[in-house]
Amino acid sequence: MAILPILKIGHPILARRAEPVINIDEEIVRLARDMIDTMHAAPGVGLAAPQVNVSRRLITVDLTIGENPEEIIVLINPEITEAEGEIREEEGCLSVPDVREQVTRPARVAVKGIGLDGNEEFFEARDTMARVFCHELDHLNGLFFIDHLSPLKKALIKKRMLKRLEKGELS
Ligand code: ZN
Repeated sequence: MAILPILKIGHPILARRAEPVINIDEEIVRLARDMIDTMHAAPGVGLAAPQVNVSRRLITVDLTIGENPEEIIVLINPEITEAEGEIREEEGCLSVPDVREQVTRPARVAVKGIGLDGNEEFFEARDTMARVFCHELDHLNGLFFIDHLSPLKKALIKKRMLKRLEKGELS
């Protein structure tokens, strides 16, 4: 078990498109376990590998934050295959501390990916679950939730974050 440092906005890895996972080797399995521990410790309901400094397409999700181990999802090379409806709700991110903003996301998504056992997995997700999948998939494409806000709002938040980073408040 290891709790990894979570990168903050401004780090170049977070702005990059992550590479697909080709082999589910020991390293990937260990990364997934460490991401689950890190997500639970944060605490957060989702985490993407770039947030722990690994530019690979791997996410972990657990709406119960460790309450129910059966609810933990590890998904490799995830893709949204369907999206419908819209819900506007407050959202935050472990890489953008202390910022919460209203973001519009699909009300329902279908997601497919590969589990740690190498088998293809499919999920139908609604509401918060759909939101978390969309949020974590954004990270794999170098995007933050604030990228869905108006350019002005986004610029203000970014400026505030970079100032706090410079002061060493976010390390
Ligand atoms: Zn995030």
